[in-house]
Amino acid sequence: MSLDKEQGGCPSAVTAPKEAGCAGAASPEMDRRQFFEMCKQALPAGMTLLAAAGPLSLANAQTSPAAGAVPEPKLANYAMAVDINKCIGCGRCAAACKAENKVPDSPHYVRTWVERYVIPRDGEAMVDSPNAGIDGFPDQPAVDILKTFFVPKLCNHCANPPCVQVCPVGATFQTRDGVVLVDEDYCVGCRYCIQACPYGARYLHPEKKVADKCTFCYHRITKGLLPACVEVCPTQARVFGDLNNRSSPIQRVLRFNPIMALKAELNTRPKVFYANADQEIR
Ligand code: SF4
Ligand code: SF4
Repeated sequence: MSLDKEQGGCPSAVTAPKEAGCAGAASPEMDRRQFFEMCKQALPAGMTLLAAAGPLSLANAQTSPAAGAVPEPKLANYAMAVDINKCIGCGRCAAACKAENKVPDSPHYVRTWVERYVIPRDGEAMVDSPNAGIDGFPDQPAVDILKTFFVPKLCNHCANPPCVQVCPVGATFQTRDGVVLVDEDYCVGCRYCIQACPYGARYLHPEKKVADKCTFCYHRITKGLLPACVEVCPTQARVFGDLNNRSSPIQRVLRFNPIMALKAELNTRPKVFYANADQEIR
């Protein structure tokens, strides 16, 4: 997906190396990855291009209101809720996501997937997700089972996202309406974000050689449509909405159910919320 600034605004990351004092500037013929490697070698160990660029940060560039006296209307803050009591593990969400976003066919590449948790009376929880849950699940293991449930997963669109912090070229960024995106025109495929994500929500696209993950179907939600996974869910287990809008459907789910977020202790401030979830979920 290629993004312009009106869609949330990827910074002009190509200016960072110049400000960082890299020797020379990118010639039109120079490959982006070669340029990135050259600048990386020119910086002190451990310093990223954005860090070297100084206080003119990505966050500032995207959140500063435009100069002028007229206040901007309140922006959306998009989020998703998943009601574990409603998910039947049909996998339609994962299949719809693949079709909508042209995610490669192989089970190794997914933007969203459904995990099955089997909790035995004795022993550890067992978790599986064959082909992201798209083809259903095999018979349950032959143990004395206390309970079974399904957990759809995806990028949490963290409000404090480590993937954004580690991206050396500003290709991974937060939109002003709270969605974490990758601008594939800037991504150099270094995989730092894939390693930094504690939720395993990213993969390297095998053909494009750029990081890829859930976008909340940004191309749809900015037209007033629902994400594909939400639209096809037959039980309304997935609910999409705006945390800044009190009449958004997600507010009701958050208000009337016990809610948890995954790995909340990491302070990533996830914006995918789980209703009626078991403490065994990880
Ligand atoms: Fe980034 Fe992973 Fe959080 Fe998504 S879930 S915003 S990829 S850290
Ligand atoms: Fe669960 Fe809905 Fe996905 Fe089916 S489509 S697996 S019910 S979240």
